[in-house]
Amino acid sequence: MNIPFNKPYLTGNETIYIQDAVATGKISGNGKYTQKCHKWFEESYGFGKCLLTTSCTDALEMAAILLDIQPGDEVILPSYTFVSTANAFVLRGAKLVFVDSGKEHPGIDEESIEELITHKTKAIVPVHYAGVACNMDLVMEIANKYGVFVVEDAAQAIDSFYTGKDGIKRALGSIGHLAAFSFHETKNIISGEGGMLAINDMQFAKRAEIIWEKGTNRSSFFRGEVDKYGWVDIGSSFLPSEVIAAFLWAQLENIQHIQMRRLNIWVNYYEKLKPWAEKYGIGMPIIPDFASNNAHMFYLVCKNVEQRSKIIMSLKADGILAVFHYLSLHTSPFYESKHDGRILHETNRFTNSLLRLPFYFDLNESDQNIVIAKLIECDL
Ligand SMILES: *Cc1c(COP(=O)(O)O)cnc(C)c1O
Repeated sequence: MNIPFNKPYLTGNETIYIQDAVATGKISGNGKYTQKCHKWFEESYGFGKCLLTTSCTDALEMAAILLDIQPGDEVILPSYTFVSTANAFVLRGAKLVFVDSGKEHPGIDEESIEELITHKTKAIVPVHYAGVACNMDLVMEIANKYGVFVVEDAAQAIDSFYTGKDGIKRALGSIGHLAAFSFHETKNIISGEGGMLAINDMQFAKRAEIIWEKGTNRSSFFRGEVDKYGWVDIGSSFLPSEVIAAFLWAQLENIQHIQMRRLNIWVNYYEKLKPWAEKYGIGMPIIPDFASNNAHMFYLVCKNVEQRSKIIMSLKADGILAVFHYLSLHTSPFYESKHDGRILHETNRFTNSLLRLPFYFDLNESDQNIVIAKLIECDL
């Protein structure tokens, strides 16, 4: 038996649209497919302005440039996240101030943010872990109170929502001043490598386009707003080619179908594993009332690292790949000596105990039921 952890799903139209993009003779960035994707995202989720990027990492780096992060500025973020959430700000000289994970979820502990704000704080970067919303009312209240910006790391959060105290349901990525998405092949919607910056605070819209186009006002030129284009700011080559955008378009067209299938897989895991998890004191994902579930991943929280290793090895012997996730950034070889020394108990706990189960569109019910049966058979 061989059940991988992830398997990219193809709708079948990817190569058709890529052929079309190639046939138009314009395969560099910001062509027909890029603009179709931008428009779709803006209309579907209420983002202010969207710019496709070559990765979420790039979108986060654009955000750091846009917020004009300077050496010594402080950025508040969870330690339990992917390297890029942090690295994008370190590239501009920021000092990272890590927040512990929540007691009941691996994402940022929203209640611990305010005490970490100083006069040097420039931004808060909440990560919607597993596509499940952070408490955005609280994050935005703190940000507004102290005049700092919010960049949502929505890498895993496509098609996921947050219902605020006002009762309004908003798409994740539409709430912070800026938000970054990923279309890496491990996410729900993919283009191999790929990402997007969503700009909700429109004061950043014009400059974002310039940074995106290598620091030039090329986009204004092509719209006929200026009669020549040149170097007007810093920037980089953040925009993907039309080949990537064409691939992504094929995925977006099928998003409802993809999301429905993933949600079925998630619910099947949850319902069939619940009694077993309760019996062995294993934690299950918790979806707060304010959050929707975009079925990005299914994870368990083991009692300790030994129990997790035991499960991983036992499943591996049956050809099933279950994997752990992030290693705390505050204890990473690169950042440990720069961290302020606070111990982040919950972050460390998730680093040692979180286990992700095989999760992909093509995971059929019989294979999934084998994963479940093998888990239940594990000698704990
Ligand atoms: C996947 C991921 C990223 C990085 O995305 P890329 O598109 O691979 O650069 C950043 N942050 C989080 C939380 C992620 O899950």
